Amino acid sequence: MITAKKKERGNTEALVKELLANLGEDPVREGLEKTPKRVAASLKYLTSGYHKDIKQILNGAIFDEKYDEMVVLADIELFSLCEHHLLPFYGKCHVAYIPNGKIVGLSKIPRLVDVFARRLQVQERLTSQIAECLMEALNPRGVGVVIEALHLCMAMRGVEKNNAVCITSSMLGVFRSDQRSRQEFLSLINHKR
Ligand SMILES: [Zn+2]
Repeated sequence: MITAKKKERGNTEALVKELLANLGEDPVREGLEKTPKRVAASLKYLTSGYHKDIKQILNGAIFDEKYDEMVVLADIELFSLCEHHLLPFYGKCHVAYIPNGKIVGLSKIPRLVDVFARRLQVQERLTSQIAECLMEALNPRGVGVVIEALHLCMAMRGVEKNNAVCITSSMLGVFRSDQRSRQEFLSLINHKR
């Protein structure tokens, strides 16, 4: 019996094989023989964020706490795929929030970043999805997210500017309304750089 998932993967493999042939390659030569299988598996992993349940990830990791100062998690490693070229963009994500009675287990924040990064993305949307997700889950006084990333679609093709870092930010709640909160966050992550 062929399961739906196996069939899906088989389809991707067949498409990759066809793609290799379209590029002028011989898909059955030794070096490429297993490539469709590998590409299908790697794409599946790199887009696994579509099938992750955020509620399940956060389940049991949100705690009542009186702490009401800024929490900053800087330099979270980030790898994603640009939806325009299916090429990687990668860099660092910095996340801050000011609790309003609830805090989240720190290890959950990088996992949340991965849920949204492991999809076909544009950096702008990735940034606001992370911020909005935390805003919804914790109802904090504010959330700030900054992403700095290098886009291989820019570095390897097109304008070929291989050191241009794209910086995006999403500021919600007090991070948007109160300049001091925003400045505190930005100076903390700039200081680290
Ligand atoms: Zn691109």
